[in-house]
Amino acid sequence: MNDINGRMPIVALRGLVIMPDMVLHFDVSRKKSAAALESAMQHDQMIMVTAQTEPDIEDPVLDELHRIGCMARIKQLVRMPKDVVRVLVEGKFRAEIEDLIASTPFLLGDVIIHDTQDRVEDETRAEAMRRILVEKVEQLGSAGQKFGPDVMKLTEKASDIVRLTNALCNNAQMPWKERQKLLEIFDFEERYEAICRHLQKEYEVMLIGREISAKVKADLDKNQKDYVLREQIKVIREELGEDTESEADEYRAQADKLKCSDEVREKLYKEIRRFEQVPPGASESVVYRNYIEHMLEMPWDKMTRDNRNLDKAQKILREDHYGLDKVKERIVEYLAVRLLTRKGEAPVLCLVGPPGTGKTSIARSIARALSKKYVRISLGGVHDEAEIRGHRKTYIGAMPGRIAAALRQAGTKNPVLLLDEIDKVSTSDFKGDTYSALLEVLDGEQNVAFRDNYLEVPLDLSEVLFIATANSLDNVPRPLLDRMEIIEINTYTLQEKLHIAKEHLIEKQIEANGLKSRQLSISDSALQKIILNYTREAGVRNLERCIGEICRKTARQILQDGKKSVHVTERNLSQYLGQVRFEYDTILEKNEIGVVRGLAWTAVGGDTLSVEVNVMPGSGEFDITGQVGSVMRESAMAGISYIRSISSTLSLPDGFFEKNDFHIHIPEGAVPKDGPSAGVTMVTAMYSALTGIPVKADVAMTGEVTLRGRVLPIGGLREKTIAAKVAGIHTVIVPEKNRRDILELSKEITRDLNFVYAGTMADILPVALERMPEGK
Ligand code: ADP
Repeated sequence: MNDINGRMPIVALRGLVIMPDMVLHFDVSRKKSAAALESAMQHDQMIMVTAQTEPDIEDPVLDELHRIGCMARIKQLVRMPKDVVRVLVEGKFRAEIEDLIASTPFLLGDVIIHDTQDRVEDETRAEAMRRILVEKVEQLGSAGQKFGPDVMKLTEKASDIVRLTNALCNNAQMPWKERQKLLEIFDFEERYEAICRHLQKEYEVMLIGREISAKVKADLDKNQKDYVLREQIKVIREELGEDTESEADEYRAQADKLKCSDEVREKLYKEIRRFEQVPPGASESVVYRNYIEHMLEMPWDKMTRDNRNLDKAQKILREDHYGLDKVKERIVEYLAVRLLTRKGEAPVLCLVGPPGTGKTSIARSIARALSKKYVRISLGGVHDEAEIRGHRKTYIGAMPGRIAAALRQAGTKNPVLLLDEIDKVSTSDFKGDTYSALLEVLDGEQNVAFRDNYLEVPLDLSEVLFIATANSLDNVPRPLLDRMEIIEINTYTLQEKLHIAKEHLIEKQIEANGLKSRQLSISDSALQKIILNYTREAGVRNLERCIGEICRKTARQILQDGKKSVHVTERNLSQYLGQVRFEYDTILEKNEIGVVRGLAWTAVGGDTLSVEVNVMPGSGEFDITGQVGSVMRESAMAGISYIRSISSTLSLPDGFFEKNDFHIHIPEGAVPKDGPSAGVTMVTAMYSALTGIPVKADVAMTGEVTLRGRVLPIGGLREKTIAAKVAGIHTVIVPEKNRRDILELSKEITRDLNFVYAGTMADILPVALERMPEGK
């Protein structure tokens, strides 16, 4: 390498690198650079050109210049307007600034020239190097970056490898900083490798770029194609006089305005797109239209503002219903918590009680008190998960499930949703997933994103206030029960029914039948008679119906007969309601042998039921009739065993049980009966039949009996007691362990009744029978 030293003017270049063998022109506008060129022209036309480290420096010092630059010959210099000098230079050698001697009037420095004398000795090696470079050049060419003919000519001969390499360094597209790096490589082979690497990288970048742009182009093409097709469809439809296009646009506009999540909107757009692509007559068109309309009508993010006034809510609840204090209290508590915390998981309330006790109507009242919308889903007989969750829309005639439909009907995402008769969901089917769907609905963790098969997008049920109703909890699966707060609604007493009728039902029916309140009055005694002799129910549904009937007849009398008003009393009641429907099962006229009054609990309230026992000659057979369930049958067997175990005290003839048949009958055979609570009744009846001692007619009893004659507690005492009272019973025998239940009953129920608490059968028999057998 020949190093030639010299003192030379320097031109600083901005964003430009000049290499040996490179010929190019550039414009100079800085005074110092023009002066440097001027000075060079006056000497040997040689100038040192080097790049500034940063292009935007106006007056660079030594540290702001790349030390390695290029010694170049000035081939031409043209003065341009505005003091600009255009210069044509040819790069000669790599050169290095050793020191800067002066910086005015131009940059002057000591420069070492590096003549690198590039060469490749070995011809084979040169050929190998050439081939590699040629391959890269061709690759690049195929990817779209072509070199000029000057460069291409050099690719032909191995002997041109040096010139080819340098020409590529000079001509390949690259940022100036990268070219500066090539300039700083003095060793030829090193430089060769660097340019190879660069070309390879460039090729890969171009390939990837091409891929991306091909994709973008394809997308664009498709959009364009879709657009053209849509336009064509539009024209065709216009020809046919159809306006589906505008319908789709309308849907789209509605979707834009819909308050909902992005997911829902995306889904809608997608379906609208599908909708407009099928011909309007096609069956799919109906499917899409249905779906879109359902989606548009769902209350995705629509809410009503809850009433936050406790007093007002309490007043509304009190106004609408008599009694039901526990439910009302719970609702006011719920509201209070909501007010304090500003949030709060909505509880799932489950109102359990006999029909007609106001479960449905209190739910409606709760909605009114909270200013929420109210919707009801009747679950009676639902036996398919799809009824809750909907069918996929590919299914013919598919619809959303009842939950989604109810929300749509409510039009808000925070209504009161009544799940009526949750105990009537049929589990007998193989599609037993109905309950699991319900579980998901009621589970606070899962119902934020409830999936309806039809809608296919998650539905947020977390704001819904669920209220369930059931007649009994026997059939409701445990997991479902665990998610609900059970509130029991009791059978109404006679007094309560009177209150409800006077304070609510009469007024309601008068209004419903277009009367004025002064036009009809019903006396208390008439009301009582309606309750006792025209209805037999735990609730007040039939009572309300009877009052409605009276109202209708009244309306007719007022219109047809010109009456001013009607007063209904016990005496003229039958004119309005016809013959008495229920002769109450009152006490027997006289004490009888083998007949005992038991007390039963049924879904419609309490009832009395007679147990009759006959003992007759036979062969030791035992029979029980009157639609008796297995538990009651077993209870009867236990009773017989007990009676046999004490038979020695009854002075019966030898072999009595082998020579006689027992027949227990429980009348009203049409009504199914079951449960253990008739145990004591059956034993008492048998004892009476065996001893021939009559049972007191005004005594009723209830309780389970064991083999040893112990009396165990039972349920439903409130209903049973009410029934006993209505039947005119004076003495009620209940298990000792139920004493607390009786003490909790209101005075209204227990008044005039004499309670006897029994621990064993021995406590019962002396009370129930006219007398005990001789000597016992
Ligand atoms: P359920 O849903 O329990 O079968 P409903 O809600 O249908 O009973 O009630 C039947 C009728 O009795 C309704 O008109 C209801 O307003 C009325 N009702 C029931 N309980 C009461 C009550 N405590 N106060 C006022 N009206 C009542």
